Amino acid sequence: MATIFTRIAKGEIPSFKVAEDDNYYAFLDINPMAKGHTLVIPKNVENDYIFNLDPETYAGLCQFARKVAIAIKAAIPCQRVGVAVLGMEVPHTHIHLVPLQTEADMDFRKAKLSLTNEEFKQIAGSIASEYEKL
Ligand code: 5GP
Repeated sequence: MATIFTRIAKGEIPSFKVAEDDNYYAFLDINPMAKGHTLVIPKNVENDYIFNLDPETYAGLCQFARKVAIAIKAAIPCQRVGVAVLGMEVPHTHIHLVPLQTEADMDFRKAKLSLTNEEFKQIAGSIASEYEKL
């Protein structure tokens, strides 16, 4: 059975899309640690552990994530964009990109933000338009 993230990348489950190309997809985390918290996934590979990806998919995912992080930094006021990989919840490799003001913003235990659909849409749109410029 397809993972939830495969179904998101296929558009079977809605998401707030930030960017995509033939092989990779970026969308807002539904329980964000900060405004602009984005997940980056390979579309066609459901491996649940990033370091088990084949080298080509791994390298492509990192290149794609770099571009998305540059777009996030341009769209969301932040000191820098933090990167994390956990995979404790969803068994489909994904990279977390989180706009950071302080170290404390990258704390997966803290309470998540509650955003409206309008806010998600506005954030995704502003990152997407920065991505288009790259
Ligand atoms: P991890 O597997 O890295 O521990 O956490 C999975 C992340 O995916 C969590 O931050 C969670 O909020 C996010 N997530 C889980 N299900 C969905 C979903 O259906 N849509 C979106 N946009 N994010 C999800």
